[in-house]
Amino acid sequence: MQASDQSPPSGDANDTALIDIKAVSHTFNTANGPLPVLDSLDISIAEGKFTAVVGPSGCGKSTLTRLVAGLMKPDSGEVWLHGERVVSPRATVGMAFQNPVLLEWRTILKNVILPLEIVNSSMPQAEQEERARYLLKLVGLEGFEDRRPSELSGGMRQRASLCRALVHKPDVIILDEPFGALDAFTREDLWQLMHTLREQEPFTALLITHDLRESIFLADEVVVMSGRPAHAQHILKVDLPAKRTLEDLYTPEASNMLAELRAQIRIAQQRDQ
Ligand code: ADP
Ligand code: MG
Repeated sequence: MQASDQSPPSGDANDTALIDIKAVSHTFNTANGPLPVLDSLDISIAEGKFTAVVGPSGCGKSTLTRLVAGLMKPDSGEVWLHGERVVSPRATVGMAFQNPVLLEWRTILKNVILPLEIVNSSMPQAEQEERARYLLKLVGLEGFEDRRPSELSGGMRQRASLCRALVHKPDVIILDEPFGALDAFTREDLWQLMHTLREQEPFTALLITHDLRESIFLADEVVVMSGRPAHAQHILKVDLPAKRTLEDLYTPEASNMLAELRAQIRIAQQRDQ
């Protein structure tokens, strides 16, 4: 499951980055010919930091998550995780998507335990269950452990899928529009929950989102991707308190950051036309 053991190239290696995406380019071969999607994309995320990526639909954000997860290899450039080049899927990554993809024939508890069964199979079952129950309690799903996914609301299913992404204590979590299908109130609850989880469970996060408010509420840095093929057009450092409340989204600082992001997205969209 682990990636190669090569050392980072000397000289330009970014020693402090836990995730280092270096000059990544990728072209898909499609029925209509080659489709260049990424062009020399550079993104670097330090350990414990939360980075959001925004950009027009189809600009390669999900492709980026698959590259970081080691589910596919770029045509050129490199992805490094914890000083190791990513060439195959890694156990130290947790993932959550817009569609929680929970297994209907398993209870919520058994869905959350799944990564432990695969990655930490030597862990006694009682310990696996204890870890899963701890996380389910943390996200407010105590009492729902024995339910099936279809018995839960969309927000509850997404809470369970966040538990599953974190259960094996991954170094990195990759979140591809996990809150995109939820109503506004549930979404805001889950934003706050992400801060609670981050306090309890140290991780480095890569979040893909369409929601600019979400990006500044959750992230330390927001990367705007643009162009066809896409690169990192702009990086915004989020200047809000580490411990955030929803009120922080209504401050002049937040308004300025949202305006900056909107302007960058407009530039990105104009480039696409
Ligand atoms: P985003 O997540 O930003 O909306 P994606 O990374 O899903 O964008 O896709 C970027 C582009 O690459 C899209 O035009 C999409 O149709 C295309 N694409 C994605 N995956 C494949 C694939 N496996 N084969 C061919 N084309 C693909
Ligand atoms: Mg996508």
